[in-house]
Amino acid sequence: MELLHSGKVRDVYADGDDLILVASDRISIYDVALPTPIPDKGRLLSALSLWWFEQLADLVPNHVISATHVPAEFAGRAIRCQRLDMVPVECVARGYLTGGGLREYERTGAVSGVPLPRGLGEASILPEPIFTPSSKAPMGEHDEPITFDDVVAKVGQDTAERLRQITIDIYRRGAELAADRGILIADTKIELGWAPDGTLVLADELLTSDSSRFWPAESYQPGRVQFSYDKQYVRDWATGSGWNKQAPAPDVPAEVVEATRARYVEVYEKLTGNRWE
Ligand code: ATP
Ligand code: MG
Repeated sequence: MELLHSGKVRDVYADGDDLILVASDRISIYDVALPTPIPDKGRLLSALSLWWFEQLADLVPNHVISATHVPAEFAGRAIRCQRLDMVPVECVARGYLTGGGLREYERTGAVSGVPLPRGLGEASILPEPIFTPSSKAPMGEHDEPITFDDVVAKVGQDTAERLRQITIDIYRRGAELAADRGILIADTKIELGWAPDGTLVLADELLTSDSSRFWPAESYQPGRVQFSYDKQYVRDWATGSGWNKQAPAPDVPAEVVEATRARYVEVYEKLTGNRWE
């Protein structure tokens, strides 16, 4: 197979007309991949993504072909999918304000051109979920927020409206289901592509903690930075170690790795209701 792309966390291969998306056990914090893998992370996130694709299949068709017809060395952490002509927009929905969205709001009172009420702050819940697209930046560059009109300019009015609708629908359904199971989804990023017949198809990964911000519902408290469901241990440890957040990152101690793995298992089990074997 031809390796098309190696991201910080995933590798993408071409196999005939199909793609094989392979999730590694690599973890990144502050946009830097750590040298120490988290055992099973790739399998846990692949399984979670597949589960969501199934749950939300009635909303929009997705690119999944098979989770089993993949090379043996990637078994459990690879998905064979339909290779699409990707829409050049990262489709983000936000239900809460934090991160880059909050910084933009503080500067302009809006996020990606969507005006918001005054007085919101860190982790505020939004009156309703909003579509805050960003550009797909070339490798190594950061995605930049763009407005709905920018999306229209790229893909036309009809497609832009469908992207917004699909993104919000997926966020609403995902967030509602997760909230029932003790996890708040603050925001999420989805990607779509065009199939050869022109249909819009959901691609990439879906509602994983690598594409979304998951917060434990029980400790949610607006006004402060929330705990990250999966990465908090590593972040706290990294900050405490005096690391300057520039690559290369230091090795992660075994107990931090184990605590982090346990959080990925917990997220998977809570959301899906399945036991992780
Ligand atoms: P980063 O390391 O910052 O995440 P990245 O987003 O480029 O960088 P990955 O997310 O690992 O890296 O790469 C997955 C790539 O595969 C993305 O470019 C995504 O748009 C693309 N992709 C996902 N699904 C499909 C599909 N069905 N058809 C074509 N391309 C796809
Ligand atoms: Mg990506």
